[in-house]
Amino acid sequence: MGKIICHRHGEQSFHEICEHLYSCFVNGIKSPVHSIGILNLRLCANCYETHTFKEINNLSIEKIHNASDSRQIEETLTNKYNLINKKVVCAECYSDFNKKTSG
Ligand SMILES: [Zn+2]
Ligand SMILES: [Zn+2]
Repeated sequence: MGKIICHRHGEQSFHEICEHLYSCFVNGIKSPVHSIGILNLRLCANCYETHTFKEINNLSIEKIHNASDSRQIEETLTNKYNLINKKVVCAECYSDFNKKTSG
């Protein structure tokens, strides 16, 4: 995982989120989040549905490596990943945001 420089937290790990979650984050609006573990990516419900991320949501690195069509799965992952307009957020800021807005 890479690092970004946050103006509040300094050097931090980050999350990638779709542009819609990003605008919710910026505006302090809580919305449903779908985490795609294998891509370290978070999506709004709409992106998740539209690009059928459901089909890859239970994949793990091990599963892909053991699959006979692992190459094709990786391509599918990459294609889906590239369909999303992604924004990067500081992991600390994002978890603050989730704490503040939960409940
Ligand atoms: Zn979205
Ligand atoms: Zn931060």
